[in-house]
Amino acid sequence: MKPVVGLTGGIASGKTTVSKMFADLGIPIIDADELAREVVEPGTPGLAAIVEEFGEDVLDEEGGLDRKKVADLVFGDEEARETLNAIMHPRIGAAGAKYVQGYQDHPAPYVIYEGALLVETGAHKGFSALVVVSAEESVQRLRLIARDGFTVHDANARIEAQLPLDRKVAVADFVVSNNGDLEGTRRQVNEIHEQLVARFGSGESA
Ligand code: ATP
Repeated sequence: MKPVVGLTGGIASGKTTVSKMFADLGIPIIDADELAREVVEPGTPGLAAIVEEFGEDVLDEEGGLDRKKVADLVFGDEEARETLNAIMHPRIGAAGAKYVQGYQDHPAPYVIYEGALLVETGAHKGFSALVVVSAEESVQRLRLIARDGFTVHDANARIEAQLPLDRKVAVADFVVSNNGDLEGTRRQVNEIHEQLVARFGSGESA
């Protein structure tokens, strides 16, 4: 099997930005957030399971899942959140495994699996290596305000709701420090890529 490298980090730390840099080097990216949408598309067993558990109120006018409604429903309700996770996580895992399978003949020596909660869910233990994107809290805050129009208060709440970044850095094999300009970040990505190529070969299974 082709090695799968996990990529995670704090909110607005630059995970997507760094993923794109790996993609520029020819590395396939599997995005957990995209999988999370895919497994609850209309007509999927995932969506049926959610409606059975939470009722039709979680659907929008077109019959798709209203992710905000679901997020509001489980916010602060640990039991509901666990029920949702029990529906979502196995399906996301299976969908991810299918994508990895589909990349077996790809010339890249490894694939990247990007997700916000890889350490929180324990998924990081299953990867061949883990890359963590780190940014100072003040930088995360500014990026949240600039990108999403959050107030300082809301940005802080989002940051504080997350597992502290140092817990993620502690289990990382590689850390990308994304506090500076994009060129500096790209240089780090290139270096990490070279090390991953050295570790995993040039396209053969490790
Ligand atoms: P989320 O947690 O919301 O998924 P993320 O970790 O994927 O976010 P990005 O979307 O990559 O983070 O970056 C957050 C914002 O900061 C984006 O608007 C992005 O363009 C900007 N950004 C990321 N890195 C840099 C950088 N080095 N210099 C300037 N802007 C940056």
